Amino acid sequence: LQAVPSREEIHRSRFKRLRFRFAQLRCDALLVTHLPNVFYLCGFTGSSGVLLVEADQAILFTDSRYSIQARQEVVGAKVRIERRSPLLCAVEWLSDSRRKLRIAYPPERVTALQAVQLRRTAGPKVRWVEGANIVESLRSVKDALEISLIREAALLAGNLFEGLLPLVKPGVKELDLSAEVEYRLRRQGASAAAFETIIASGSRAALPHARASAKPLQKNELVVFDLGAILRGYCSDITRTVYVGRAPARVRRWYAAVLQAQEAARAAMKPGVEADAIDRAARRTLRRHRLAKYFTHSTGHGLGIEVHEAPRLARGERTQLQVGNIVTIEPGVYLEGIGGIRIEDDIALFPQGVEILSQLKRDLIEL
Ligand code: ZN
Ligand code: ZN
Repeated sequence: LQAVPSREEIHRSRFKRLRFRFAQLRCDALLVTHLPNVFYLCGFTGSSGVLLVEADQAILFTDSRYSIQARQEVVGAKVRIERRSPLLCAVEWLSDSRRKLRIAYPPERVTALQAVQLRRTAGPKVRWVEGANIVESLRSVKDALEISLIREAALLAGNLFEGLLPLVKPGVKELDLSAEVEYRLRRQGASAAAFETIIASGSRAALPHARASAKPLQKNELVVFDLGAILRGYCSDITRTVYVGRAPARVRRWYAAVLQAQEAARAAMKPGVEADAIDRAARRTLRRHRLAKYFTHSTGHGLGIEVHEAPRLARGERTQLQVGNIVTIEPGVYLEGIGGIRIEDDIALFPQGVEILSQLKRDLIEL
């Protein structure tokens, strides 16, 4: 039996894993500007803050709205309450140092204007190193606590979907159903929906990212439900497709093909396998059913503090899967003017195989 690690231990180990990478990047410190990364490292949930991680300490720069909250939440970092931009304050703090410093920063998270300001404020003593995605890559390997939180979020979303089915009938508007989803998510403990709930019926189901609309459901059409919860900071993301009425043979065929593609992708998930091999497995199956051209997005994505994070299961992604990755697998087919089918589950990768966190039946549901 393993002892449950404390918050302090969890965050200490995250900082340790991060600092271990400083040597590879040949940097003395890292500027963390992306809030999900700040939350991951020190537990801060505020909407404004920059975390500076040095070899021997970490400092969160935030503003006075968060003075109480930061004291309550932050683990493993000192807190400085600032009157001006937390980013510039962090850099000023660095520029006061007497040493020459090499600071890593995430270029894709810093605007062109901020980059200019950083260089100007920091002055000549600071060398900027592009430390692309270093925290994101740590985040892609989940610890035991994260896995259990995402499992809980996935179960919540799955149960919610099942509870919704009695409401799914001709005449009900997509928007009514999405309102119901978001209301029930919160009633069941989620802090919010992980993303805007997708409910797309009839020909609208052919739009993979349709927003719920005022369209009422009709008999003899497909309805795609894509929903997720944020529970204690972690997201779930599941999709099921139902048919209102008795599905005709061609819809059953398409559905069976998408389900087979999902199973093939899941079966391909092993530690060390490149992410695009999972995508290829799904596509190959759909190609056998002559449906590959209707599968217009990637097979899946990492899931955690953000609903879309590393690794991406897409064409050309060479990242190797690792134990502790949690990803969605969500192949689909979209036929213009007719409708669409997608089946999405949340999958955790363990040494001995995968666990499907979203425990929800995958058969075609006819209502
Ligand atoms: Zn989804
Ligand atoms: Zn997804």
